[in-house]
Amino acid sequence: MSNIVAIVGRPNVGKSTLYNRLTESRKAIVDDFSGVTRDRHYGVSEWTDHHFTVVDTGGYVANSEDVFEVAIREQVVIAIEEATVILFMVDVTTGITDLDDEIANLLRKGNKPVFVVVNKLDNNAQLADATEFYSLGLGEIYTISSMTGSGTGELLDEVVKHFEDVDLEDNQRPKYAIVGRPNVGKSSIINALIGKDRNIVTPIAGTTRDSIHIHYNQYGHDFMLIDTAGLRKKTKVKENIEFYSVMRTIKALEEADVVILMIDAVEGIESQDINIFHLAEKNKKGIVIVVNKWDLIEKNNKTIKVFEEQIRQKIAPFTDVPIVFTSVTEKQRVLKVIDTANQVYQNRARKISTSKLNDIMLPIIEHYPPPSLKGKYVKIKYITQIAGTSPMFAFFCNLPQYVKEPYYRFIENQLRENFEFSGAPIQVWFRQK
Ligand code: GDP
Ligand code: GDP
Repeated sequence: MSNIVAIVGRPNVGKSTLYNRLTESRKAIVDDFSGVTRDRHYGVSEWTDHHFTVVDTGGYVANSEDVFEVAIREQVVIAIEEATVILFMVDVTTGITDLDDEIANLLRKGNKPVFVVVNKLDNNAQLADATEFYSLGLGEIYTISSMTGSGTGELLDEVVKHFEDVDLEDNQRPKYAIVGRPNVGKSSIINALIGKDRNIVTPIAGTTRDSIHIHYNQYGHDFMLIDTAGLRKKTKVKENIEFYSVMRTIKALEEADVVILMIDAVEGIESQDINIFHLAEKNKKGIVIVVNKWDLIEKNNKTIKVFEEQIRQKIAPFTDVPIVFTSVTEKQRVLKVIDTANQVYQNRARKISTSKLNDIMLPIIEHYPPPSLKGKYVKIKYITQIAGTSPMFAFFCNLPQYVKEPYYRFIENQLRENFEFSGAPIQVWFRQK
């Protein structure tokens, strides 16, 4: 299931303000990791138990004036193809502009649900002005103020009705998405794995026609590969190549159980790679990092260690992730990638019995209890794993609010040391008992 909400519209209507509002509400719940680059234009959000990814298309607009409108038009077309729902944002204080009309034309021709979002309605006196936007011919209008948040709840209540909540019909097989920047070797590894025998599985309900799922069934392995490299979009504007690849990546990532993040050994891990890594982590996906083109690196007996350390520093604090060094062109360790993805898939699905958890973790906790706070002591009584698609643990105790971040990290590290969760994000909760 992958639900993508794309915010389109001309500059200055308030897209990034809304984007921040939708994604930051979530930040309060999930850890905000230090060191994450700020140039991210996509993020996770949730509304009434629906999870989705928000994309702020404005972030990808070229700077130069002449390609400007072309860029926006292209983005709207890409959004129509790739998004689940489109929020078309307009500005009540300026009324309809020529560019608004152009965008509306494209959206009317598309086949995706479009919500006309009339922004900057900071007071009700402007309601009368908003009615002008019915003339865009896109149906109902939703008045909001991105600044104060008013109206966004009503909008989201309608938006989530368009989400695809059914999972893919092919539910049992593990799904691995191969993602990474252009040219890292995604197509090459897929070709190396499946050769000419591309058994492309029929399109799956709810995904677009060009979403490529490859069924791999050889040497005792049986899984689906989600290919983000297979299709390349012709675009006139350079920035939109990235925009398109980001849309494809988000979609593949949301569908996948395990994300195989490919990095070019020569270029190293860059902010885009780290953004994808964190998106996978926040979506609780299994992760394998593949450093490809290893043949191009001059090596000695320390090189792998140095590379690994550099990568782990950049992906911290979630560093318990397998890293595989490959050369696809030299056919080195290609199958190891698949073995590792299988292993991570199992780690992510791993269930630890309550008795085993308590036998191992309670003595550790007794040895290193949470530090006392204001003279109060936290007493952890028992631990249980909560059912879910990724590992989640509840630690029942008397004063959960007294447990601070460093102790959460300690507990997670202990779980990782005592059980095999490599590549799988873990959630730890302290609960009142
Ligand atoms: P974008 O270019 O579409 O991403 O627009 P921004 O989010 O950067 O917003 C453009 C300007 O409009 C900024 O100065 C915002 O502070 C302002 N703005 C955004 N939302 C609102 C709103 O609801 N009311 C008012 N009055 N201003 C807003
Ligand atoms: P994609 O854009 O991620 O799908 O990347 P491609 O699979 O198209 O590969 C981009 C280029 O890198 C091609 O010229 C490949 O032959 C080359 N390439 C892929 N893997 C390797 C590798 O392991 N070593 C070297 N030297 N080149 C590679």
